Amino acid sequence: MTTYTAPVDEMMFLFDNLKDNKRYNEIEKYKEINSELVKGILEEAAKINQDLILPLAKSGDENPCVYENGVVRTPPGYKEVYKKFIEDGWTSLSCDPKYGGQGIPKTVSTFFEEMLSSSCLSFKLYSELSIGAYNCILTHAEQNIKDKFLPKIVEGKWSGTMCLTEPQCGTDLGLLKTKAVLQEDGTYNITGQKIFITSGDHDLTENIIHLVLARISDAPKGTKGISLFLVPKYNVTDDGKVGTRNGVSTNSIESKMGIKGSPTCVLNFENSKGIMIGPKNKGLNSMFTMMNLERIVVGIQGLGIAETAFQNALAYSKDRKQGKANNSANGETDLIIRHADIRRSLMNMKSIIEGQRSFAFWLSQQIDVSLSHDNKEVRDDASNMVALLTPVIKSFFTDNGMDITNDAIQVFGGYGYTKDQGIEQLFRDNRITPIYEGTNSVQAIDLVYRKIANEGIFENFISVIDNEIKSFGDVKDINNLINVFDKYKEILVSFTKWMREKIKANKDDASAACNDYLKVLGYTAVAFSWLKTMKISYENKDKNNDFYEDKINTGNYYFEKILPKAQTHYVVGTSGSSSTMNAKFN
Ligand SMILES: Cc1cc2nc3c(=O)[nH]c(=O)nc-3n(C[C@H](O)[C@H](O)[C@H](O)COP(=O)(O)OP(=O)(O)OC[C@H]3O[C@@H](n4cnc5c(N)ncnc54)[C@H](O)[C@@H]3O)c2cc1C
Repeated sequence: MTTYTAPVDEMMFLFDNLKDNKRYNEIEKYKEINSELVKGILEEAAKINQDLILPLAKSGDENPCVYENGVVRTPPGYKEVYKKFIEDGWTSLSCDPKYGGQGIPKTVSTFFEEMLSSSCLSFKLYSELSIGAYNCILTHAEQNIKDKFLPKIVEGKWSGTMCLTEPQCGTDLGLLKTKAVLQEDGTYNITGQKIFITSGDHDLTENIIHLVLARISDAPKGTKGISLFLVPKYNVTDDGKVGTRNGVSTNSIESKMGIKGSPTCVLNFENSKGIMIGPKNKGLNSMFTMMNLERIVVGIQGLGIAETAFQNALAYSKDRKQGKANNSANGETDLIIRHADIRRSLMNMKSIIEGQRSFAFWLSQQIDVSLSHDNKEVRDDASNMVALLTPVIKSFFTDNGMDITNDAIQVFGGYGYTKDQGIEQLFRDNRITPIYEGTNSVQAIDLVYRKIANEGIFENFISVIDNEIKSFGDVKDINNLINVFDKYKEILVSFTKWMREKIKANKDDASAACNDYLKVLGYTAVAFSWLKTMKISYENKDKNNDFYEDKINTGNYYFEKILPKAQTHYVVGTSGSSSTMNAKFN
């Protein structure tokens, strides 16, 4: 089994030193979220994750969810831990106190999301989709629906799902067929089949609230004719109690390579009663509230799993002896951590993970500003920033999660390939993250065609970065790194210009380069976060030498060995698409 120690010190380093977004610090309701409170939350979060949730990863992998006689049973231990999880209020952490939540900002709750991902992704998904449903209902439903459904979801007694995918319709939601027919009482009769539904059925909660995309009778074709419906597993009575069974049944669950403790369900909706959420035919917009936040959380899944892979690879390399290192002192066999190549592998992991965590922290502050700042213009600016960077965090973090779990297996050698150490499970569990919530390639296409195609959002991002770096003042230790950073920022700007020209002149060139473009933006954004960390580290070196020296060394590694990959992606991306499109595959 893998081990995991939550990186509370790292997280507190970010909270104490890099909670520097002026707009975030203006949010009145978060002014009392201070260092002491956050440390208390993170220490408690670390305990439940390390002691109770981590063991569920192995248990769920060895005893996956079972579908029997129409019901889904979760793996051993899940029920007991979920009961404790909701009793301790963990589902309510970031929710509105009006509905029973604790009102903790995303700037802090993102750390908790990371810990859960590090411990057991399967277990995390039950509450993750519930919070996604909570966000969607909170933003788009009528007040009476919010009052009826939100308190139970916040409490964790009811869970949520997101029902988009159908057998013929995955990425292309315009192909969606599920029907909704208006009834005399104003509700809708929903009929159709949804597949691949995470937590579609299980035995952890009293009720399951499905958010279902469907088409009403006279709807236009394509994505413009999709509406969103709330369809509970059990109808809810006027006084908010669980009532009769609705027409939703589980057809089967998938047998899959990873996240085996999470049921991926085929759901049949047969004349089930649904309530429309948000405006008619605008369901996709409403669902995007859930999906956009979910995409960021999926990026955090990649980060969390990578952290566990790194911790275990590091521990193993301090235990396993093979070969003699260069300059071996006594001529005896050395620990593999003494080999430069193993250190290279570990430093790749460490520098990416720490940089990504810092970037996620920076973006979380932007999310809080976009949701909670008093001034609409400020909220809109932050929303645009979040929209630009959502596909980046989703794809860049989860692709890096694949590389890091792969490299961790390699550090373990043959023992990484066998099941005993649990490291191969991290690779299998992480493999879904580049696929669900919109595949990573589709995220890259979204980034290029929707986010940077027109001038505005991207330029705003660059000017925010420039202003932050200017505000550093003269920290001479990092002047050199700022020059290096500027070079990569210029590459990014030049790639953006190239993309905009190609979108007009040669779409195949643009489309073939989307993934490379996303990578250049990802490497540059993480480099920006490293600059901020390096500045703080140089300034505080005297206070805690080991911690800050290590940060400075890791940041330097990122600039020397990781960031240059952006240059290759730029060269590859801008080389055009003729050999790609001329390939004779038939
Ligand atoms: C374990 C698991 C859990 C899931 N949970 C949920 C859930 O809770 N709710 C839900 O609704 N769905 C869920 N899904 C579905 C998931 O979101 C889809 O599998 C995913 O969006 C991709 O759709 P698809 O599988 O139909 O692939 P397709 O859309 O068929 O894509 C196949 C390939 O073609 C590429 N492609 C597709 N369109 C384009 C394009 N326009 N340009 C370039 N390339 C393209 C894709 O990137 C991909 O590589 C889950 C899936 C799994 C496996």
